[in-house]
Amino acid sequence: MGVRYSAFKDIDIAEFDAVVVGSGFAGAVTARELAERGGKKVLVIEKRSHIGGNMYDELDDAGILVHRYGPHIFHTNDKRAFDYVRRFTEWRDYQHEVLADWYGTYMPVPFNKNSMEIAFGEEKAAHLIDKLIATFGDERKVPIIELREQDDPELSEIADFVYKNVFLYYTQKQWGLTPEEVDPSVTARVPVFISRDNRYFQDAYQGMPLHGYTPLFENMLSHEGIVVCLDTEAESVFDLEFANGSEDSPLSGILIKGRRFDGPIVYTGPLDELFLSRFGRLPYRTLDFKYETHDKKHVLPCGTVNFTVTEDYTRITEFTYLTGQDSDKTTIMKEYSHAYEDPSTQIPYYAIISDENAAHYNRYRALTEPLVNFHPLGRLAEYRYYNMDVIIGRALALADELVGEGAQA
Ligand code: FAD
Ligand code: UDP
Repeated sequence: MGVRYSAFKDIDIAEFDAVVVGSGFAGAVTARELAERGGKKVLVIEKRSHIGGNMYDELDDAGILVHRYGPHIFHTNDKRAFDYVRRFTEWRDYQHEVLADWYGTYMPVPFNKNSMEIAFGEEKAAHLIDKLIATFGDERKVPIIELREQDDPELSEIADFVYKNVFLYYTQKQWGLTPEEVDPSVTARVPVFISRDNRYFQDAYQGMPLHGYTPLFENMLSHEGIVVCLDTEAESVFDLEFANGSEDSPLSGILIKGRRFDGPIVYTGPLDELFLSRFGRLPYRTLDFKYETHDKKHVLPCGTVNFTVTEDYTRITEFTYLTGQDSDKTTIMKEYSHAYEDPSTQIPYYAIISDENAAHYNRYRALTEPLVNFHPLGRLAEYRYYNMDVIIGRALALADELVGEGAQA
């Protein structure tokens, strides 16, 4: 069977046991689990005109499979999450590699022993690598912030080089902030790696859905217990009830089509927008994508090139490396990052992690806490910088809770 789509106006809400807002991994995994394992009738509300959230991919005019909301590479150490997504499609093995374009010379990112030889020459690199190994150990990952704290002048030289040539300009473009100003967990995602391993991720399980992410989501949401309403925004179909009239009054109920809905409501959109941003909008970074199709097999030497010292875009991705598609044409995509200002035309891609923003988010979260059937889940609703596998793991854990079973091995 295919996905069961319906117009929201034709829905009889009394027929549903659970409502899920959003059809990215947070929403789709929860919907599937509630329907399949919990035997529930699940209504999925999605504001876009397609399912799949930010993982959505499709063929472009040249017939190249492209990702429409940023390049997505699957990698995880969570076997349960990997086994789960493997149920819904075939996968291809893919190990992502990234090169930094350093004034026209390519250097592996994360910055590693091979990058060190390109930056410092073989002889000097050999000495510096010994020093790194003596200080941190071989095959270790060292966040740039930690490397910069070292007193040793030679380690400082490496740290200064990496800071200036890999992190500073890229981070300014991506966040509008310097590496010191962003939360340390952000730059720690891409540490200095004392290794010859040029892969971007070292996770045990890595790969790409063989036919793309969209068919994976179609299979996940194809279940007789699931109905999907596209082009439907939660704010316009939920009537929120509050305990009292004050600004901080907690949510006491959600009405859908005039009826109070007491089954589980899993909400995976931005929490501030559900409350019409009454405490001010949560800050996010958004992205613009520029696509180019070229009449040749490849434009880049690998899946992604990061522009760490030049250009106003952060990175270029060439999809055929990721998807394994064989074609005489190729499509690349440039990413431009800027502040998220207009919810009607822009997409909130990255929460900006800081104590201040977490406190701001918690004000919204406090509004929902007393409503025990309301479950914020996902990168937007939890205002976190989560990768796909973490979201899948969290969705499975929430489903365990909602269908009353403990986590499975
Ligand atoms: P989303 O995928 O954003 O899904 C949320 C869904 O809810 C959307 O479909 C949205 O339209 C819908 N929605 C929102 N608000 C409402 C509303 N009010 N009413 C109805 N529907 C609503 N992770 C990796 O593991 N590997 C990668 O390589 C990777 N690359 C990334 C690249 C970029 C540029 C970005 C931004 C993220 C990347 N991620 C990657 C992270 C990945 O996108 C997230 O982990 C994943 O999308 C989270 O799933 P989600 O369901 O929480 O959110
Ligand atoms: N980063 C950088 N230079 C790079 C790669 C990453 O400065 O070449 C920093 C930058 O701040 C970025 C963060 O590390 O936002 C995390 O990078 P990652 O590739 O994980 O970002 P994502 O793929 O999530 O956009």
